[in-house]
Amino acid sequence: MAKRRYVCRNCRRFTTEKECPVCKSKDLSASWKGLAIINDPNDSEIAKDLNIETPGKYALFVG
Ligand SMILES: [Zn+2]
Repeated sequence: MAKRRYVCRNCRRFTTEKECPVCKSKDLSASWKGLAIINDPNDSEIAKDLNIETPGKYALFVG
């Protein structure tokens, strides 16, 4: 059984919990598009575009 994945509207991180593990925001969205895996935020154009400073899995668009 697959867990539903949510994306934090604040920092775009994926979570399966009811709050974001990173910023503790409860403002989550089940409507998202695209997936970016950031390993090295300092060496990633996507990370710069999305203002990401922590490695992890992020959504490109959050509804
Ligand atoms: Zn967050």
